Amino acid sequence: MTELIIKDLHVSIEGKQILKGLNLTVRKGEVHAIMGPNGTGKSTLAYTLMGHPSYEVTQGEIWFKGENILEKRPDERSRLGLFLAFQYPVAIPGVTVANFLRTALNARRRASNPEEKGIPIPEFRKMLIEKMNLLKMDSKFAGRYLNDGFSGGEKKRAEILQMATLQPEIAILDETDSGLDIDALRIVSEGVNALTGPNLGVVVITHYQRLLNYIKPQFVHIMFNGTIVESGGPALALKLEEHGYDWVREKYQEPIPA
Ligand code: ADP
Ligand code: MG
Repeated sequence: MTELIIKDLHVSIEGKQILKGLNLTVRKGEVHAIMGPNGTGKSTLAYTLMGHPSYEVTQGEIWFKGENILEKRPDERSRLGLFLAFQYPVAIPGVTVANFLRTALNARRRASNPEEKGIPIPEFRKMLIEKMNLLKMDSKFAGRYLNDGFSGGEKKRAEILQMATLQPEIAILDETDSGLDIDALRIVSEGVNALTGPNLGVVVITHYQRLLNYIKPQFVHIMFNGTIVESGGPALALKLEEHGYDWVREKYQEPIPA
C-alpha cells in the first residue's frame, strides 16, 4: 500500500516557525484538497515535501512507501514516485517538452531498474500522444521549448503532462494563490480528473474555494496557522463555499498576547 504519512511536522524558515505540528496521511487512489487562507503555510508544506533546502524540519517525520524521506534529495523523492508540481515552473530554452519528459521518465525508470536502457523513442512518442490526447493538448506542444514563453495556462498544462508521463504514485499540486486564473484552474482540474484512479493519490493545495466546483475530493482539510485544523469529506467543502474562511479564523485564531 503506497502511503504518504506526515507526522507532527514542524518547519521553520529563517528561524521563523511556519508549520506547527501538521499530520496528514494520503493513500494511492485518494484525492485530498488542502484549503486555507493565504499565509497559513500551504506552500511551505509543498516545498518541504519536495525537499527544498530553505525549509528546515525542526520536528516530525515524513514517510513515503515505508521510507523516511526527510534525508532524501528532491530527485530521490521523485524517483520513488512522489510528484511535486512547481508553483513557478522554470523555462529551459533549447530543451523541448518531449525531450525533457523522456529524460525525466528514463531517470524514474532507472531508479527501479538500474539495467533499464531507456524507453525506445517510438514507444515514448506513442505514449506521449496518448497522454496529450487525454489532456486535450495539441501535439505541437511537445515540440516547444519547455516553459519558454508559455502562458500561465500552458505552464499548468506542461506540469500536468509531466505528471501524466511520470505516473507518480502520489502527486502534490500547489496552486498559486496569485496569478492563477479561472482557465488555469480548469486545466489543472480537468487534468487531475483525467488522471485520478486507483494508481494515483493527489493532494491539491489551494486557497480558492471555487476549485471545488471542478475537483471533487473525497477528503477536504482546512489549514490554518501552520496546521490542519479540520478534516472532513465533501460537506466541509460545501461549508467553505457557503461561509468562506471567516468562521475558521474566529474559531482558531490565537488570542492576541496582552
Ligand atoms: P500559503 O501558501 O498558505 O499562502 P506560505 O507557506 O507561502 O503560505 O507562507 C507561510 C508563511 O511563511 C508566511 O507568513 C510567509 O510570509 C512566510 N514565508 C514563506 N516563505 C518564506 C521565505 N522564503 N522566507 C521567509 N518567510 C517566508
Ligand atoms: Mg501558497
